[in-house]
Amino acid sequence: MNTSPPHSQSFRFDNSYARLPPRFYVRQNPVPVRKPELIRLNRRLARQLGIDPDMLESPIGAEILAGNRVPLGAEPLAMAYAGHQFGGFVPELGDGRAILLGEVSGEGGMRRDIHLKGAGRTPFSRGGDGRSWIGPVLREYIVSEAMAALGIPTTRALAALTTGEAVMREHSLPGGVLARVASSHIRIGTFQDFAAREDVEAVRLLAEHVIARHYPEAAQAENPFLALLEAVIERQAALIAKWMAVGFIHGVMNTDNMSIAGETIDYGPCAYMDSYHPDMVFSSIDRGGRYAYANQPQIGQWNLSCLAYCLLPLIGPDEQTALDAVREKLDCFPDYYHAAREAGFAAKIGLPGHGDDAAGLADDLLACMADAGADFTLTFRRLCDLPARPDDEADAGFIALFEGTVEAADWLRKWRQSLARQNRGDEVRQAAMRAVNPAYIPRNHRIEQAIDAALIGDYQLFETMNLVLSRPFDDQPEHADWQTPPLPEEIVHQTFCGT
Ligand code: AMP
Ligand code: MG
Repeated sequence: MNTSPPHSQSFRFDNSYARLPPRFYVRQNPVPVRKPELIRLNRRLARQLGIDPDMLESPIGAEILAGNRVPLGAEPLAMAYAGHQFGGFVPELGDGRAILLGEVSGEGGMRRDIHLKGAGRTPFSRGGDGRSWIGPVLREYIVSEAMAALGIPTTRALAALTTGEAVMREHSLPGGVLARVASSHIRIGTFQDFAAREDVEAVRLLAEHVIARHYPEAAQAENPFLALLEAVIERQAALIAKWMAVGFIHGVMNTDNMSIAGETIDYGPCAYMDSYHPDMVFSSIDRGGRYAYANQPQIGQWNLSCLAYCLLPLIGPDEQTALDAVREKLDCFPDYYHAAREAGFAAKIGLPGHGDDAAGLADDLLACMADAGADFTLTFRRLCDLPARPDDEADAGFIALFEGTVEAADWLRKWRQSLARQNRGDEVRQAAMRAVNPAYIPRNHRIEQAIDAALIGDYQLFETMNLVLSRPFDDQPEHADWQTPPLPEEIVHQTFCGT
């Protein structure tokens, strides 16, 4: 047993959330686990956070990351929050299986929460055990790091650990902890908690905290709280547009799973689509398809209206005037979203800045893809290979994804007419397209294979998957098989929270 003192200098904590009044959280240490062992440390992220990766890889590091040892300067707490779950309001949720250790300042003064998921029971646990098994830990590690590599705002994975304890789900499974990093863990649901109690003072303190931390420019506005709402709307619209452009389905867009900072958070039964269909749903608990792929923008706007409702009393003394002001901002969501989405898809088909023409073409392509059940990722990636002049051999690989339908060939003709109106050489265009159309995404069946192997102690697939997904836009011929969609018998039809 290593008995050297904790490396206090390794963490530069400055816990602004813990300085908010006590009704924002419950102070609570993580509950120690029997035998913490590191599965994987994100060394690069550790360095960015100003934490010594060698220390984190030592036995002391594993103790810290699993919650067995509280590093100096940490002020562990469970955050209070509420939320609309599948449209129904739940006044008391809160961190039931996670502990916020504190905030560290890393490279360039960036402030990041360090949060341990699976850290034991808290006063918010209700019936739950406060733990997680390694499946959801590995899943979140893979998908959140892939998201970051795709350039999409997200929480990050600092480390995955095993606990040496069993967790009881449908049967006994090995326990795990995910050390997660985020700009903050404040959610729309955090505001809803206080608004539901009519604690306007707390809503104000929280809004001021969020402005200082995430939206400092809003402080300069004539009405900072209205400016905050507008800024959050803009970031959420941009985020969801990015999800749509990679075929990502969050799966549980409850207001407690929506980060106020505009990062993707709380990866549960999320999925990247293989075969495209706008109505695609994977989450086993989303029986009505509320959070289907194509519904995500409307749900985003609905969630933002919940935030707007909380902010109303801060926006002005006259209720009607405040209501009109927030309505005007909420009505801008579709404009922000469509602008971001259209720009994203225009770039995907190699026609940036082509306005309605490109947007219409992208929609036509999606319609063909839906009809044929074409693979979302491969369709756009193979399109990158096609020259501006028709080329039967190259075109065949693309059209094959549509089972040879004439619609795909027709679409290519129209696409080439548009390409002809821009004067970019093939090479420049293709490179630009490859930089926005990933070759590699975390495919569901691969995640499940990696988890199944981990259950028998083999982390090789997990390691390889992380490596491949760290360069999603690069052709990696040695890993070509990681691009392949699932065989019919490998298709994953449902994903689970599994917590
Ligand atoms: P989520 O699935 O992350 O959206 O969580 C919804 C709520 O359930 C949050 O309040 C969680 O803290 C709580 N929760 C989820 N899993 C557990 C668990 N195993 N033990 C205690 N609380 C949990
Ligand atoms: Mg959650």
